[in-house]
Amino acid sequence: METIIQVKDVGKTFIGKENTVEALKGINLDIHKGEIYGIIGMSGAGKSTLVRCLNFLEKPTTGTVVVEGKDLAALSGKELRQIRMQIAMIFQHFNLLMQRTVLDNICFPLEIAGQKKKKARQRAKELLEIVGLSEKAGAYPAQLSGGQKQRVAIARALATNPKILLCDEATSALDPTTTKSILALLKDINEKYGITIIIITHEMAVVQEICTHVAIIDGGCLAETGTVEEVFTRPRTRAARKLVFQGGTESGEIGRNLATGKRCIRIVFRENSSFEPVIGNMVLACKEPANILLADTKDIGGVAHGQMILQLPEDEAVAEKMIAYLKERKLEVEELEHYVG
Ligand code: ADP
Repeated sequence: METIIQVKDVGKTFIGKENTVEALKGINLDIHKGEIYGIIGMSGAGKSTLVRCLNFLEKPTTGTVVVEGKDLAALSGKELRQIRMQIAMIFQHFNLLMQRTVLDNICFPLEIAGQKKKKARQRAKELLEIVGLSEKAGAYPAQLSGGQKQRVAIARALATNPKILLCDEATSALDPTTTKSILALLKDINEKYGITIIIITHEMAVVQEICTHVAIIDGGCLAETGTVEEVFTRPRTRAARKLVFQGGTESGEIGRNLATGKRCIRIVFRENSSFEPVIGNMVLACKEPANILLADTKDIGGVAHGQMILQLPEDEAVAEKMIAYLKERKLEVEELEHYVG
């Protein structure tokens, strides 16, 4: 798949009067077209700094950021502004213009881009329909709920037809139900318009819900990258385990050991099995890791095909819970008596 953003050895150091902060150290990332890529880390890990480096709102101290084959450091001011039009951003606190109506908020970037008022309003109306808020065109931001405000921000972000959408803690101020609806909207936009989405968050549940890939940032370093399923089922680093099992009973440390049980099962994915990252979700729901001993699956148009062999945790109750979880999702589960890899 074609790379859309390549981050090579990026470091960022803030030098203040009193102290120096190394916010990012040697970050390498490859984000491909059409992915929904999660960047997750605890507060202060360097996520916002990294996302700001992706559009050069923050210039890295070292390393390069290449967007669609263009090294951002080598661009003139005008070229940089042009490429920034391709990279839209939404924020935790929406950043809407409070004095303008919903429609005028969406028209704003189009007016800046020099579009005629009539055409801008036409486009803004289309965008409001996409985000499901047509009836609020004349309302002011203060009259909207948090979720509605974020929908307006998304419509505004899409106004200039960007190729990339950066979401910086875009759901962190929203309740869980609203979060789900906003994430569903983002997924829909990704699928319908092929926009690459980068989600910055401190919540694993957000990554689990829509991301295909994830990078874990810890103390300014990249701790781990991979598909969501890989990282969820086999978090290799302490930072990853802490995030995957956040909310667990032992302050995030239950993932320290891999599953040690002897029970092995084979799961068969058939045409009708849905491919939410099933294993990742199961691990999250049961708060215990399971080892993937063998995986031979393909994701064809969002549907999983193939089989997987899992080693379940020692704890019988948890093992049973996992089997029930998988069966509930209509997967074929077969117990393997003497699996020896
Ligand atoms: P996160 O988004 O993961 O919470 P940030 O990228 O905001 O983390 O911050 C990473 C580190 O860099 C923190 O220690 C923060 O204090 C520091 N930092 C961020 N921006 C600046 C800045 N403009 N000047 C000085 N230090 C900063």
